[in-house]
Amino acid sequence: MSLIVQKYGGTSVGTTERIGNVADKVAGWRDKGNDVVVVVSAMSGETNRLIGLASDITDKPSPREMDVLVSTGEQVTIALLCMALEQRGYPARSYTGSQVHILTDSSFSKARILDIDNQNVQKDLSAGRVVVVAGFQGVDEHGSITTLGRGGSDTTAVALAAALKADECQIYTDVDGVYTTDPRVVSDARRLNKITFEEMLEMASLGSKVLQIRAVEFAGKYNVPLRVLSSFEEGEGTLISYEDEEMEDALISGIAFNRDEAKLTILGVPDQPGVAHKILGPISEANVEVDMIVQNIAEDSTTDFTFTVHRNDYDKALDILKQSADELGAREVNGDNKIIKISLVGVGMRSHAGIASKMFETLAGEGINIRMISTSEIKISVVVDEKYLELGVRALHEAFELEKSPQ
Ligand code: ADP
Ligand code: ASP
Ligand code: MG
Repeated sequence: MSLIVQKYGGTSVGTTERIGNVADKVAGWRDKGNDVVVVVSAMSGETNRLIGLASDITDKPSPREMDVLVSTGEQVTIALLCMALEQRGYPARSYTGSQVHILTDSSFSKARILDIDNQNVQKDLSAGRVVVVAGFQGVDEHGSITTLGRGGSDTTAVALAAALKADECQIYTDVDGVYTTDPRVVSDARRLNKITFEEMLEMASLGSKVLQIRAVEFAGKYNVPLRVLSSFEEGEGTLISYEDEEMEDALISGIAFNRDEAKLTILGVPDQPGVAHKILGPISEANVEVDMIVQNIAEDSTTDFTFTVHRNDYDKALDILKQSADELGAREVNGDNKIIKISLVGVGMRSHAGIASKMFETLAGEGINIRMISTSEIKISVVVDEKYLELGVRALHEAFELEKSPQ
């Protein structure tokens, strides 16, 4: 007998009929003799609807109340799924994040899990019940409800799987695995049978929203076998694990993109020790995360500095930068929030030269201007205008022949 943690995303529980389908699937796993813990998201669109309600009232909601609000979506689905299971003759019990006691820090809207007390879960499993846990939420040491960031139900599932030492953590979603790129953008994207934690971590951090990055981090750290599967069709899905001999010998495992980027530039900054800190210090103090950073070589003892931030933080970052520009005596500040980032990811890149130049050549061939570049051992990212997203991703997918299995 195995212990399996399953997570069903928003689309998979999007209607009461679909919640019924999930109950059938869970029942199937029970019938095969497995213990099952299920984590569910809010019904699709619900979290956005709740965020919309708040913004009808204020543009500066209290972070604490915001988490009280957005965590309610998941409470609806846990109850409905338990009803559907019981109606099918399978005893089940639901828990909110605070009831299972998923203890987090107090960073509302992006809380980190510190500890899980799974005594209740263990007792229910021993009593033959299916345990259904609300994803995306926890509780801090003061008893306040917290949430784990968009897509956070993935992380709830992996954290529970780690705490319970589950045999596998299965993420059921609306695609049947992890693909070489988002199959909604490139129709001949190819499903991967396996991908390493390292590559999946890069894909997630570079914008592939199929798994929340923290879920991948957690799974890697605690060595939780993680699988992405379809809620709607049968199949093996994609296993995310450490590198082994069966891994595909691919140069590039996938293409990720991120639509949430914006870039800011400060021009003509006097080139002195400490300018980078003076520019980026106030940005990070305002809790704005900076992604790529480029500083030009100084000319006439002044330099230019460009960096990217999340699009939601663009206005805030621009205001701060304008203020810093005055203080530093910089010439000009400008920005662009109609840019996106496209990245090639692959551990095979480590031992191969020429990938970057092929990437640049391909983009040039489509008349796409590259605005920023950043590289690491296993990825190359470029920033381009938003309008080139689909064209760029498709051209790169074709140029690197990702639709073909590397044999
Ligand atoms: P859920 O609501 O189940 O959590 P998400 O919308 O968060 O589902 O994640 C699934 C979506 O991720 C897919 O519908 C797909 O459009 C997108 N996606 C992005 N990149 C990839 C990729 N490389 N492979 C598979 N899906 C991807
Ligand atoms: N409901 C939350 C969201 O939409 C969490 C999740 O679905 O993983 O982001
Ligand atoms: Mg998701």
